[in-house]
Amino acid sequence: MSETSTSGKDFIRTIVERDVATGKNGGRVVTRFPPEPNGYLHIGHAKSICLNFGIAKEYGGRCHLRFDDTNPAAEDTEYVESIQEDIRWLGFDWGEHQYYASDYYELLYKYAVALIKKGKAFVCDLDAEQLREFRGTLKEAGRDSPSRERTVEDNLDLFIRMRAGEFAAGTRTLRAKIDMASPKIVMRDPVLYRIQFSHHHRTGDSWCIYPMYDFAHCLSDSIENITHSLCTLEFADNKALYDWVLQELETPRHPQQIEFGRLDLTYTVMSKRVLRRLVSEEHVESWDDPRMPTVSGMRRRGFPADAIRKFCTEVGLARHHATVQIEQLETAVRDELNRTAPRVMAVLDPLRVVIENYPEDVTDELDAVNNPEDPSAGTRKVPFSRELFIERDDFMEDPPRKFFRLAPGREVRLRYAYFITCTDVIKDENTGQILELRCTYDPATRGGDAADGRKVKATLHWVSARDAIEAEVRLYDRLFITPTPMKAPEGKDFIANLNPDSLEIRSGCMVEPSLASAAPGDRFQFERLGYFCVDPDSPEDALILNRTVTLRDTWARIQAKNS
Ligand code: ATP
Ligand code: MG
Repeated sequence: MSETSTSGKDFIRTIVERDVATGKNGGRVVTRFPPEPNGYLHIGHAKSICLNFGIAKEYGGRCHLRFDDTNPAAEDTEYVESIQEDIRWLGFDWGEHQYYASDYYELLYKYAVALIKKGKAFVCDLDAEQLREFRGTLKEAGRDSPSRERTVEDNLDLFIRMRAGEFAAGTRTLRAKIDMASPKIVMRDPVLYRIQFSHHHRTGDSWCIYPMYDFAHCLSDSIENITHSLCTLEFADNKALYDWVLQELETPRHPQQIEFGRLDLTYTVMSKRVLRRLVSEEHVESWDDPRMPTVSGMRRRGFPADAIRKFCTEVGLARHHATVQIEQLETAVRDELNRTAPRVMAVLDPLRVVIENYPEDVTDELDAVNNPEDPSAGTRKVPFSRELFIERDDFMEDPPRKFFRLAPGREVRLRYAYFITCTDVIKDENTGQILELRCTYDPATRGGDAADGRKVKATLHWVSARDAIEAEVRLYDRLFITPTPMKAPEGKDFIANLNPDSLEIRSGCMVEPSLASAAPGDRFQFERLGYFCVDPDSPEDALILNRTVTLRDTWARIQAKNS
């Protein structure tokens, strides 16, 4: 549940508004979005982006884009570029305020030296395993490092030599001198710098010591004059360290850290580490695979940026963790597409229909409504001719009682066209497979209504065989079969929860000719089938479409059938 005050504002906006009103920070509002460029952004990041950029916009402030690039081994310019593209696509702009934590390496180093000089940091000789051992647990206090009482002179000398590359990776660290008995483990003499001989995507090989997140982050915020540093709940304990560093260093500015509950979605994994594994082990094609919860994957799948923003607003802000149902996101997407996506007809599993009493050389042009939700979208012409395609499962030779669609001897409506009656079924002599249907049409029903007021029980979508365009359609479904993918069966990991049917590729689909001018990224509603989006990799001379969402929530039904 989100928490809103009586004014209808969430708790963070309430704080920001009060700060503006009381003139704190001179009434300025400066936020930042600080991604680590070690992967593509996901829907959780979208929430943080909407929050940080949204608040800046609402209160006449600004939001910085800061790449938190303090972990060179995992970071790359590919990620920097994708992050920029995704934020812009979501509709936000950082203007000239793009920064990198690596811009501040020299400054951060000076701050570290200042801490050493103050007797508040020391060079520690413990290796990673010993550090863990000495740290203690939630129940047990930690133990002081044997290096803790080094003199300031020794610490300075060793730190300078760490920077100069005299020591092997992992052999020494710079640690804050705080309190090994603190109930907050982050306060037990946390590591501030580590030795790492990795090539950095921006600073190259000029550094072999890198600052830790907790040291770099608060100082970067302070250097950039951030007023409100919004982060997710797992950093609640780190706030003590955030404040300690800024207080000990007496920085001229001390931003306020405020935590909010991170976004989690059912049927979705949301950590970059986990997403990276899906890509590297080829469970999906790429970071922007339409099944991925990445911003680029959702874009490719056809999710409108407006729908994502609206969803992020709707889920609101809370001080506690809550998991949001994936259906809420899907509903936001459907609502937006229902308003905006033009309707077209497409047949995913074509069955040929020959209208025996329709002339061979005639093509009629029928009027079809582009979007019943939006009269300004107008109408278009759809060709009708003697040979058509309908959906194979819209016909049954021997229909059960509740099947109202086409069957031998039965009359149905073709959307925007005519009533047709099935007169014959042509089958393959050997296999018995239905090859085509023979039908007749009633010319007096042009446009889809009978002058005599006669009714039919079904309306089918269709395309004209000689005018249709062939397309490949990719039917995407949820990537995981369980609402909690990270909870794996005994002895297995989340990979065991992948949905084996998350992608079905249908070739030989037939779409109406108006799609000839469709461009990558264009979105449509295929009548009766769902929303579809032209894939960005769709070649010039062929059409590839991704299913964005079905029209209604068919998932519950599928699950019930399988169980
Ligand atoms: P991940 O665990 O997926 O790698 P992260 O927090 O390590 O995420 P960062 O690049 O450090 O990724 O995150 C940038 C910003 O996005 C941070 O301010 C973080 O709090 C925020 N963020 C990340 N995941 C979520 C989420 N699920 N919900 C809300 N905000 C998030
Ligand atoms: Mg992170």
